[in-house]
Amino acid sequence: MVWHKSCNRENDVVVTNRWHRISLRAACMRDSRFDILFEPVQIGPVTARNRFFQVPHCNGMGWTQPRALAELRKVKAEGGWAVVCTEEVEIHPSSDCSPFNEGRLWGDEDIPALQLMADAVHEHGSLAGIELLHKGMSSANFTTREIPLGPSHRPVTSVAPMQARAMTKADIRELRRWHRDAALRARRAGFDVIYVYASHDLSLPFHFLQKRKNDRIDEYGGSLENRVRLLRELIEDTRDTVGDSCAVAVRLGVDELLGPDGVSCEAEGRDVVGLLAELPDLWDVNVSSWANDSATSRFKKEGYQEEYVSFVKQLTTRPVVGVGRFTSPDAMVSQVRRGILDFIGAARPSIADPFLPRKIEEGRIDEIRECIGCNICVSSDHSNSNLRCTQNPTMGEEWRRGWHPETMPEKADEGSVLVVGAGPCGLEAALAAARRGYEVTLVEAGSELGGRVALESGLPGLREWARVRDWRVTQLQRMSNVDIFRGSKLAAADVLEFGAAHIALATGSFWRRDGIGRANGTPVQGFDRHNVRTPDELMRGHQPQGAVVVFDDDHYYMGGLLAERCALAGNRVVLVTPAALVSAWTSDTLEALAILRRLLHLGVEVHTYSNVRQLSERAATVECQLTGKLREIACSTLVSVTARLPADGLALELVDKRQELAAAGNRSLCTIGDAFGPGTIAAAVYQGHRFARELGIAADKLGGFKRELPILRQELQ
Ligand code: ADP
Ligand code: SF4
Repeated sequence: MVWHKSCNRENDVVVTNRWHRISLRAACMRDSRFDILFEPVQIGPVTARNRFFQVPHCNGMGWTQPRALAELRKVKAEGGWAVVCTEEVEIHPSSDCSPFNEGRLWGDEDIPALQLMADAVHEHGSLAGIELLHKGMSSANFTTREIPLGPSHRPVTSVAPMQARAMTKADIRELRRWHRDAALRARRAGFDVIYVYASHDLSLPFHFLQKRKNDRIDEYGGSLENRVRLLRELIEDTRDTVGDSCAVAVRLGVDELLGPDGVSCEAEGRDVVGLLAELPDLWDVNVSSWANDSATSRFKKEGYQEEYVSFVKQLTTRPVVGVGRFTSPDAMVSQVRRGILDFIGAARPSIADPFLPRKIEEGRIDEIRECIGCNICVSSDHSNSNLRCTQNPTMGEEWRRGWHPETMPEKADEGSVLVVGAGPCGLEAALAAARRGYEVTLVEAGSELGGRVALESGLPGLREWARVRDWRVTQLQRMSNVDIFRGSKLAAADVLEFGAAHIALATGSFWRRDGIGRANGTPVQGFDRHNVRTPDELMRGHQPQGAVVVFDDDHYYMGGLLAERCALAGNRVVLVTPAALVSAWTSDTLEALAILRRLLHLGVEVHTYSNVRQLSERAATVECQLTGKLREIACSTLVSVTARLPADGLALELVDKRQELAAAGNRSLCTIGDAFGPGTIAAAVYQGHRFARELGIAADKLGGFKRELPILRQELQ
């Protein structure tokens, strides 16, 4: 085997250990053109130390994990975000977000958990913000069983067999009292910025604003002035209650992207800002619903909200914060200089890199780990699991595993590390091990680094996903304790000959072509034909001719994307899926509707609840899973997107050579990433990181993770 060394060191100025340099390069290295981003900004009675603003964002942990949440937000403050906010925080049992874990401030007993976060944020000199929420007709109140509240009698917005009841005037007075009480509690918990929330189609004052949900005939319905009354009152109440010491912010969805049927920046969204212009201390503006606000990079690029929110600063002298997946400091400066925004708001960019502001401040632009806009973070909220991120494997693990995004423990021994495979898992494993101070050799069979990310970022709309590779390669290339070899496919003998103390096999996976997946437990008849193609083949350049059937039993992005690619190339495309929805799991990343819309626009024919039973030279036999009826769909190629198999041949060979490995000085052998269990890119990055964190630590010393357990005081007494 010939080892082809990459020219990583030759091309770069190499310094001994990049990560120890951070403090040496601190301060005074900032490029002066970014100075404007570090100006303090007054928000009512409080002052933000710079223009970086972590807007409220969900995290899947909410009230169930206060310590984890406090540590997560603390890291953001440490990373330089001048304002760090909670997620939406329920103010009353009549607004219960279940089954989702959000913040909770129903009573005094909820104060300590939130105080933990406010204190943590203050430790690093940042302001703590809290988004008070009454979810109105967007919550079905599964936990509390309270009847949901709304401006009018309407079904709740989720697909639950529940209706919200029209609030009486007495209800509105009660709501105002709950909101005032919550504001007082928020101040007692230590918050500096208190939000009145009216966006995302998720809050009561927003429901009052929406014509289509409000058919009241009293002073809270009818004209816009009437429909905005509740929002105005809540702002005034909050100001009267805590406004002497806390800033009052309003989060408003200025456009629902529904044209005249919804709030829009050309009509009522603009008018609401005009009517309330100077009332709040801060405007936090975005597009509604959440799917529009947190659009993925597949559909929207950096700064995509500007066209909707740019009017706001013309109508108010109050500071304005907005989002747009900003990761480029130049784009941020442009927003401020052109008078679009005063604060650079961020949820996802602050998750992908909690230290983004500090990296700009310290002149370390090339170390910013840019968000790729994939919305794996959003999926954690939908699955009630700790916040996770494709780019930042430490996100959500700050407290329970003690992982900090910028620091790594010293290496545990003197051994060298060999990482085989430079996909997202191998790249992260190599980088994280090198940050610990290990001598690392990363070997890749292909001529290009990046593994699946290199391939997948070539699919329509996924260009930004290459950042997973590019950020890691950039950091690795600067490290003097890392050697990278490309075009070097290792066999077991090569690994043995290398004699590394620690070996990580990150050799990835491949798409199977036999049709086995969720719907089919045995190979599909005819899938051994030459006209079956796998995603790997298409991504490596194969272009089918004629009609194509894409069989998607994977249900994430791949099936939909390959259908899109083939349709763009001029193929007639039929997408067949056993699921009820195309790319079904992408409803958790807020993309499912956009994907379906795009495919239908491209003329892709869609068959849901359908399974491929057989393939011939010219047609696929498709069975309706509901009726059992069979139909023939003509095609010259079938693209099988069902499941992947680990590329673990090398691992299996080496497991049989444990003794020889030990004789060659090997102390640990690990299979990681897709080679261990194929999954998401986020899972591969996480596994690579975890491998390196745990390297050299005895198995019995690895304590898993800490859990936040309910304390049963009475029972224990
Ligand atoms: P993961 O998501 O786990 O990182 P990928 O499939 O993205 O997995 O990447 C695996 C990488 O490992 C690919 O780039 C592949 O070329 C490389 N690889 C597989 N087998 C070997 C081998 N024997 N020697 C070197 N590199 C290998
Ligand atoms: Fe960005 Fe994806 Fe991380 Fe979310 S999970 S912050 S979208 S990189």
